[in-house]
Amino acid sequence: MLTNRQLFLKNLAQTSPTPIGLEIEKAEGIYLFSAEGKKYIDLISGISVSNTGHRHPKVINAIKDQLDHYLHLMVYGEYVQSPQVKLAARLAELLPETLSSTYFVNSGSEAVEGAMKLAKRYNGRSEVIAFHNAYHGGTHGSLSIMGDDVLKKPFYPLLPGIKHISINRTEDLAEITEKTACVFIEPIQGEAGVIAASKEYLLALRKRCSETGTLLIFDEIQSGFGRTGNLFAFQGLGIIPDILLMAKGMGGGLPIGAFVSSNEIMSCLSHDPILGHITTFGGNPVCCAGALANLEVILDENLAQTAISKADIFREKLGNLSGVTDFRSAGLLIALEVGSFERVTAIIDYCLQEGLILDWFLFNNCSVRIAPPLTITTEQIEQACEIIASAIKSLN
Ligand code: PMP
Repeated sequence: MLTNRQLFLKNLAQTSPTPIGLEIEKAEGIYLFSAEGKKYIDLISGISVSNTGHRHPKVINAIKDQLDHYLHLMVYGEYVQSPQVKLAARLAELLPETLSSTYFVNSGSEAVEGAMKLAKRYNGRSEVIAFHNAYHGGTHGSLSIMGDDVLKKPFYPLLPGIKHISINRTEDLAEITEKTACVFIEPIQGEAGVIAASKEYLLALRKRCSETGTLLIFDEIQSGFGRTGNLFAFQGLGIIPDILLMAKGMGGGLPIGAFVSSNEIMSCLSHDPILGHITTFGGNPVCCAGALANLEVILDENLAQTAISKADIFREKLGNLSGVTDFRSAGLLIALEVGSFERVTAIIDYCLQEGLILDWFLFNNCSVRIAPPLTITTEQIEQACEIIASAIKSLN
């Protein structure tokens, strides 16, 4: 009989020749437990998803409660489903008034797709601007605005009319004109290795978009739900995007995403044509119920605020170690730069052996990714840092 690992390799479509291949039986809080009984500290949260930890009891209870009412009833947008309504209303309470209409989807890529269609439909333009080193997803539209050629070129032709500019280069803003439908930006570029747009730059970008009638779209799929010190990063910047994208940390481990805008902009999707964007499963009631509980946990446990002080502990313990060339952090989205991809993978392998899960970044080959559940405690951070520090020392 084949083992699960053998069946995984045989029957699941593979995305790399070297998958991590861990087999996890149970997850709780910041820990994963393997089939062989080994305990791992999850320092990447399933790539910025498990912000409230794995299986937060309040999220689990909300899911169980919804299971007793209904699962899928109808495609998105037709029935009044209370988990969707409650979640959208709560988001509207927490966001500025111009972000009070939410369209639920199933993933980050779908949020990107929906937002791009919305912008084109709203201002009737077709040109889209995005950034070098940006990651926005794996579907054709989101791939078209990706700022890296390696993952993109084999799939040409992609969408026409896409331009890329460089983050924090004010002179590039002249590329945004009356022809530009929208600009997609990650206020903190995740896969580029935690590269933040400066506040001044974002203010200038906001101004240029307003002057040209271009919709400014913030992709907060990785930076959202408390990870970078605010519920959403834009809330600490003094500017408001026209469309906000969310997913990943939204569902407490369930698949859900959304694009959020004003009622005026969003209303475009309901006429000329009607059903301007359709999804069968977007806003699945179980996912919405879990997502609402997850959101309340982030607020009740002050997870956004404490992300900053927790990141400071990582900085203090790791930032000055010999062999660490840079430490970039936006709250608990951290890039530990160690000089080369060989060193990155050596550190990841060492830590995995020691029961600690780290990862690398898609577009930055000399940094280690640290993005723990926001529920991680000071003691757990100290314990994790000891393992990472010994991994780094083993290379010196
Ligand atoms: N945007 C950003 C900034 C992301 O980090 C990701 C996922 N890594 C996506 C979009 C795509 O999300 P998904 O994988 O859920 O489609």
